[in-house]
Amino acid sequence: MKKLLLPLVLMTAASGASDDSKSATNDFYTTDFLDQVATLRDHALTDPLAYDITESLTTEVGARLAGSPGDAKAVAWGEAKFKSLGFDRVTLEAAPLKRWVRGVETAEIISPFKQTLTITALGKSSPTPNEGITGEVVHFNTIDELKSADPALVKGKITFISNRMERHKDGSGYGKAVGARSTTAQVTAAKGGIGAIIRSIGTDNNRTPHTGAMKYEADVAAVPAGAISNPDADLLVNMLNRGKPVTLKYTLGSRFDGDYVSHNVIGDIIGSEKPDEYIVIGCHLDSWDLGTGAIDDASGCGITMAAAKLIKDHIGQPKRTIRVVLWANEENGLSGAKAYHEAHKEEMKQHIFGGESDFGAGTIYAFGTRMDEKAMPLVHEMMQLLQPLGIEYAGNEASSGADLIPMRAAGMAVFGLKQDGTKYFDYHHTANDTLDKIDPKELAQNVAAWVVVTALSANTSENFGFDLSDK
Ligand code: ZN
Ligand code: ZN
Repeated sequence: MKKLLLPLVLMTAASGASDDSKSATNDFYTTDFLDQVATLRDHALTDPLAYDITESLTTEVGARLAGSPGDAKAVAWGEAKFKSLGFDRVTLEAAPLKRWVRGVETAEIISPFKQTLTITALGKSSPTPNEGITGEVVHFNTIDELKSADPALVKGKITFISNRMERHKDGSGYGKAVGARSTTAQVTAAKGGIGAIIRSIGTDNNRTPHTGAMKYEADVAAVPAGAISNPDADLLVNMLNRGKPVTLKYTLGSRFDGDYVSHNVIGDIIGSEKPDEYIVIGCHLDSWDLGTGAIDDASGCGITMAAAKLIKDHIGQPKRTIRVVLWANEENGLSGAKAYHEAHKEEMKQHIFGGESDFGAGTIYAFGTRMDEKAMPLVHEMMQLLQPLGIEYAGNEASSGADLIPMRAAGMAVFGLKQDGTKYFDYHHTANDTLDKIDPKELAQNVAAWVVVTALSANTSENFGFDLSDK
């Protein structure tokens, strides 16, 4: 690739570039092609395909926890859907995992005031004894407070972390809060506690607890752990505030249940000039079991499958292969991401640019990248087509979705189309994650943006990260 070290000001002022740079920039795409993409972008804003795909997955499969009967149904659904949409090649790739199943879930405050609570097990939690765990509650505001607590305070007790997640458009409250979910079972066990309860990692005030994965190592002790809903956490705090011992009893039947092999489902639109170079987009196919997995992550499947299909139908075969991956078991172990990287690590250099749609169905407001700066002229071309959708450039430090972590670590260039997540954590990982939370117009705006980035990155021979000149 010709070295084009253009400054970032190119994003807003191409006029400052030298004549040489300008002609090179114009060399990327023909005007006809850019017009085609702009026309398809505008068409996508009213195209129903992404919503139809999302509706199909949530209606015909619904909940699809990794290793469950819903998982197998979802894999069969993905294979059939790619074929019916006319993808050129559909492949299933094995993703081995440890199956975890949910069981009975009950919780009640025994004293000082008897009340029933709503609870759900955290992913990978071990079961309580059949009769449940009963003990005094020891309250911490945050996971860091628990980490620094004297073990004598925790020994023989049930820990409770009451920290409430903050609501932000970019979802940044999640990262700050989720440590309580990830590590409370291990930290509690290490200090001699008998059980762990957290306030749900969510921004709603519904009586719907939020599940989600926690860390698990077979050789590290952990206690059975669950999340109670936000209103139930408030109730428990109110009882604790009275300064008298609070006794809680809870029962969780969740447990590991043997080995299972799920599958990544891969649909390719095969490149006409460089069939062995991939633009990797997609979603995760699994979901938690409480809702129908609409915003997490059927919508991401609808968005990316529709974007690829629309490009093939309206613009034609791309130069590079557009690879849509429906990733297996993102939620409870990244099994599909790990298996894919292992199977394809010798051909990582052929994975040119990647993104995952996994933050619901809200309007996209920003586009970020993580790539070699020399590809900035390509991003400039993309931004010309994204700006009319209300999308700003968010810089070159993007993340891209959990399923691309192994490939990103191996050096693949990635992008993120950032969605408005203001309401995402009201429903995330709850029984309320259902289709009615999706606005078809907002979903279609997502498709328009994915069409732009996917079409432009698949129809150039320029690179975003790896220098392929030694190929
Ligand atoms: Zn997700
Ligand atoms: Zn999730």
